[in-house]
Amino acid sequence: MSRLFDAIVLLWNHAAARRLQRLRRRADVVAHQQRQWRRLRKQVFARSPFYAACCHQDFGDLPVIDKRVWMSRFDHINTAGITLAQALAVAAEAERTRDFSPMLNDVAIGMSTGTSGARGVFMASRSERLRWAGTLLAKMLPDGIFAPARVALLLRAGSNLYDTLSGGLRLQFRYVDLAMPFDDVLARLDAFKPTILVGPPSVLALAADAVLAGTLRLAPSRVIAAAEVLDPVDAERITTAFGVGIEQIYQATEGFLGHTCRHGSVHLNEDCLIVERDWIDRATRRFAPIITDLYRRTQPVIRYRLNDVLVEREHPCPCGSPFIAIERIEGREDDIVWLGNARGAGLVPLFPDLLSRTLLNAAPHAADYLIEQHEVDVLRIAVQPDLSDDQRQQVRQAIADCSRRLGACVPHVSFDIGIEHSATRKCRRVRRLFKLGEASHA
Ligand SMILES: [Zn+2]
Repeated sequence: MSRLFDAIVLLWNHAAARRLQRLRRRADVVAHQQRQWRRLRKQVFARSPFYAACCHQDFGDLPVIDKRVWMSRFDHINTAGITLAQALAVAAEAERTRDFSPMLNDVAIGMSTGTSGARGVFMASRSERLRWAGTLLAKMLPDGIFAPARVALLLRAGSNLYDTLSGGLRLQFRYVDLAMPFDDVLARLDAFKPTILVGPPSVLALAADAVLAGTLRLAPSRVIAAAEVLDPVDAERITTAFGVGIEQIYQATEGFLGHTCRHGSVHLNEDCLIVERDWIDRATRRFAPIITDLYRRTQPVIRYRLNDVLVEREHPCPCGSPFIAIERIEGREDDIVWLGNARGAGLVPLFPDLLSRTLLNAAPHAADYLIEQHEVDVLRIAVQPDLSDDQRQQVRQAIADCSRRLGACVPHVSFDIGIEHSATRKCRRVRRLFKLGEASHA
């Protein structure tokens, strides 16, 4: 199909997405979701063997699936008759050659990052990709797509999705592959002079360092973090170097899930998704989202539970959006640190964000850090620049105080690991390196 046709479809989707932004009342959002769900259900249940088997169930009775089920039932869930073996072969070839154009028919294949053995495979047809692009543009470019802008996308893995965005107009996109040497990445940014810079925060922070050191001259009017948790140490460097507030896109292979409003809250895209909250800790408003994508038909995403910890805002966002407002995206549920319960059996969660802030309060000069949990009640920490013995003691004390407040055992803290960052690898500063089931409490 021609690029002209694609451009027309993209513009159509863009206009439709802009219209949806006029949803201002919660009741209108819910009515829109129900209407779209009825359409999706009719089409998907007729063509997906997995869902055909539950065609008489109400929405709330349908199975909640996670990445494990998603992968094990891959062949039956999708409506395109594509097998997991076929999709994996295409995805592996694309990663190996870094040529992200091969597809199966018109279906693009993407893989989610995950710890080894836990990667997910996701597929989208051409019309689904154009819809995604139209929505992303409508939400992220409030001045419209005819206003001039140069957008640099710093990405670890390219995809046909991003090619969809290139095209005429005065809006230019440049995809910068982070798999090349970082000096080349900086040279490309220098040549392109983006007005909008989009990338993982740990990589934006490296670009910020180059700006602060005077080796890169860049003055984007907007800086948008994506694909990683936005950590305070990165946020500070980025804001200092570029002199603008950081926006966030909450986007995963599972879909475009949300973005920052002008008040700094991330709103979930409930015009495209139904979001159910699976509460992890209701008192602190932490939940894992269960999402239903109202527009994906090739590989329907229905009641799919993401492994992310989101913290809902306590009060409604002043911007007046009727969509769920998130105070923070805290990262993977698998990275919650678990400590022994000081008052009895079982374990107590220590959320990564709280642990990071405790460390950074005790070591305010830290430019970078890493916290790893290898087993219950043992934390291994690295901080750059290196801490003195006194400073280490202050960090131990702060973590001990924090643990006691939570009613948890005080963990043993050692400073015997190093930090190595790579632009090509997703940055997780708090990591749990064992599965909970393997812990002694289980
Ligand atoms: Zn808001």
